[in-house]
Amino acid sequence: MNNEIETLDPDNWETVRQLGHRMVDDMVQFLRTIGDQPVWRKPSEEARQHLQAGLPEAPQDMEAVYEDFKQHVLPYYNGNIHPRFWGWVKGTGSMQSALAEMLAAAMNPNVSLGDQGAMYVDKQVIEWCKQMMNFPPEASGILVSGASMANATALLVARNAFDADIRWKGLQGRAEKLVVYASSETHSCIPRAVEMLGLGTDALRSVRVGDDYTLDMKDLRTRIAEDEAAGLRPFCVVANAGTVNTGAIDPLEDLVALCKEKRLWLHVDGAFGALASTLPEYEPALKWISQADSVAFDLHKWMYLPYGVGCVLVRDGNIHRQAFTYTADYLMKHERGIPAGPEGLSNFGLELSRDFKALKVWMALKEHGMDKFRRLIRQNIQQAGYLSRRIGQTPGLELMAPAPLNIVCFRYNPGFLNAAELNALNKEILMQLHESGIAAPSYTRLQQSYCLRVAITNHRTTTADLEMLIEAVLKIGKKAVRLTSVATQV
Ligand SMILES: *Cc1c(COP(=O)(O)O)cnc(C)c1O
Repeated sequence: MNNEIETLDPDNWETVRQLGHRMVDDMVQFLRTIGDQPVWRKPSEEARQHLQAGLPEAPQDMEAVYEDFKQHVLPYYNGNIHPRFWGWVKGTGSMQSALAEMLAAAMNPNVSLGDQGAMYVDKQVIEWCKQMMNFPPEASGILVSGASMANATALLVARNAFDADIRWKGLQGRAEKLVVYASSETHSCIPRAVEMLGLGTDALRSVRVGDDYTLDMKDLRTRIAEDEAAGLRPFCVVANAGTVNTGAIDPLEDLVALCKEKRLWLHVDGAFGALASTLPEYEPALKWISQADSVAFDLHKWMYLPYGVGCVLVRDGNIHRQAFTYTADYLMKHERGIPAGPEGLSNFGLELSRDFKALKVWMALKEHGMDKFRRLIRQNIQQAGYLSRRIGQTPGLELMAPAPLNIVCFRYNPGFLNAAELNALNKEILMQLHESGIAAPSYTRLQQSYCLRVAITNHRTTTADLEMLIEAVLKIGKKAVRLTSVATQV
């Protein structure tokens, strides 16, 4: 015990050590048996009340705080750790990665600059990401909180690469308006990024898609020509490698060619789909990512790592750097001492202070090896194929879109309901699936039809889990049709 100063260190390190061991034991048990638990539990009234307390002034034992966590927070997990969670696109995480997070937090480095181990780990992980995506050695990249930030970072680089003066003069200095193109299936983070860049979402052209939900090249060419004729300046195309709704892969080969011809920046949003490019069977469709000017992808989705970690890679490291480099007296690099070491990471993004998110990536890749991740990704794609086939064979179930990757959109359709009734029925099925804790797909609308949407980025899912989903959808669907006069509005 230190009598001179106040500190956050424990009075008794031994107590904390023991509590830490108990936490590890509890979390191992929690994850080991998660499949026996419901996919989801609605946070209890008591828990919600408990989490509206005033600012604590008085101290409590760490032990008591931990009990509080176990009682009021832990049981109400989101579900994505569970084998039957397939909602949105959420990765599963692992116990080993939870331990990596603890190591990163204990070491607590600020991974922005300095001659420190964490900077070299971060650099190493970026090199590995470049190798995954077949990007050239002169490419650069940065780990960010997720694909939304990764996409925004890439678009900022694209904008500044088009006109370096924008850094100083802003968009106010420009006579011609800049225009971006992306398919109508593009994730909402792209319009949000375009908005943040000061371009305004009117500058984002929503290009038509075909029946398979991939971007229509003809419509893209027409839109570009129209904008050019109107005196606007097309500067960037955002391609999807795996759309969020259905996993559609835009015609990347054609987009690479078009962007070369028109001298447009080609950015690929490959939030989850880019990882499939590491599989030989997806090379024909996805190898073109390596020719894009930038790519964004998540490591917390299809690399199953804990939140939040995504990556943006830029083909030309100098262009990337030129978009962000700033000089500040207090951040200057030195020849020796702590301010030596690798290039500061604020040269590649908007953040200065950064956590050690690279550690969990580094540890997972070393522990399992890249080929294990390839096998897990392939397993998920095969599971989506299995589910699609089972839906096709099962009377009462209807596949709603092609499933080229790991996403399956379908609905229960007894055959005698109108469109509005089908929408209401399937929404009801989804809510009952969640509330019963049986399984957690999410939802979307495709051409006005409400769909159950299964996105498999889960290393715990088995075939039996998918069978349970089918069985539950049929059972809930039949009962809901029988018992309720289905509401006509969703
Ligand atoms: C999930 C997703 C995003 C956004 O990624 P976050 O990690 O949630 O920020 C962007 N694009 C696609 C296609 C996605 O699936």
